[in-house]
Amino acid sequence: MKIVEIRATTVTVPLEAPLRHANGCHWGRFVRTIVEIEADNGLIGLGEMGGGGESAEAVFRAMKGYLVGHDPARLEEMRFKIANPTASLYNNRTQVLAALEFACLDLLGQAFGVPVHDLLGGKLQDEVPFASYLFFRYPNADGSGEVRTPTQLVEQAKALKKAHGFTSHKLKGGVFHPDYELECYRAVAAAVGEDRVRFDPNAVWSTEQGIRFGQAIEDLNNDYLEDPVFGLHAMRRTREKVRMPLATNTVVVGFEQLAANVLDTAVDVILLDTTFWGGIRPCVKAAGICETFGLGVAVHSSGELGVQLATMLHLGAVIPNLSFAADAHYHHLRDDVIQGGPLPYRNGRIRVPAGPGLGVRLDREKLAHYAEEYRRLGSYPYDKDPLRPAWCATVPNDRWADPKDDRTPEVPR
Ligand SMILES: [Mg+2]
Repeated sequence: MKIVEIRATTVTVPLEAPLRHANGCHWGRFVRTIVEIEADNGLIGLGEMGGGGESAEAVFRAMKGYLVGHDPARLEEMRFKIANPTASLYNNRTQVLAALEFACLDLLGQAFGVPVHDLLGGKLQDEVPFASYLFFRYPNADGSGEVRTPTQLVEQAKALKKAHGFTSHKLKGGVFHPDYELECYRAVAAAVGEDRVRFDPNAVWSTEQGIRFGQAIEDLNNDYLEDPVFGLHAMRRTREKVRMPLATNTVVVGFEQLAANVLDTAVDVILLDTTFWGGIRPCVKAAGICETFGLGVAVHSSGELGVQLATMLHLGAVIPNLSFAADAHYHHLRDDVIQGGPLPYRNGRIRVPAGPGLGVRLDREKLAHYAEEYRRLGSYPYDKDPLRPAWCATVPNDRWADPKDDRTPEVPR
């Protein structure tokens, strides 16, 4: 099999409401780039990357100069073609490599007539459990969807549990003062009874604040405390004084950092992201290292449509040390670009696709529609808050949003 064509299409798909986080906001939609690699036998492999637009589409067009004529089975050679570690100092293509790897694995699975998980060692489970992933949300233009108060947060948790059956709940914080978010988190934990909970302020606290918050939640049913502070050393100092596992998707996102964390442990649970790590296979390798050194593993979500979600499901299916529910933004989306519509949750779990390759195919009408929506609406700045245009978060942060501010931002829809 040889690669003959690479195409990229940037789409924007609406969210139920704008999702707030420590650095700004997802302004009511996701922007993603869908990648298609066509082989000389007519098969098409699918990939996906966050963000997009003219520049992302151009990057993937440029990859044709490297990969036309390349055998998609030669994944290790593709890694060095696209993301040689020293050449990458100049072009930083890890996320591009990830999307290409997804598409090549999809091609191989289709060519062999097997699902991607069979190429990765075989599945250990048929379904992957997910956490509910609660966000503070701005209201939509019609006033719906707001999540700002503890009461609204508890309502969101209960609604998501009822709709999808989650038994683990993650709250994305880092938006408001930590004392207010502590009140919110404790309200959620109290409302979900025996279910597990986890909190992630996206590394915006000082070490002292991280310790303070961590100690104040030690009595709860925590999976872990995720990225309370930024940096391996600050995490290590926090870990010395907080009695629960710490997790990260920010300071261990590559093998150099994983080695440093093994040699002088700062983090207990590594959240593997198929995009940040450069593909599904690097995540499987990293999970193997974590298994050897007794570190926990979970699956991180950097925002996904169905193609990326499929990569997370195949990863979650094959790693024996997946000891926590995975994260996904998926249930905050109103639609998807895959055939059959969004993959459903059942009892807080999503079934691992069983078809050949990634097991998801594009709905061409949806793809065209959401590509048109992208051309109409353009990108949005992930790291800006629509109600505070001049604001930025520092690390550690003390420029919190005001929980009494109930205004509705104007975001293009
Ligand atoms: Mg995180």
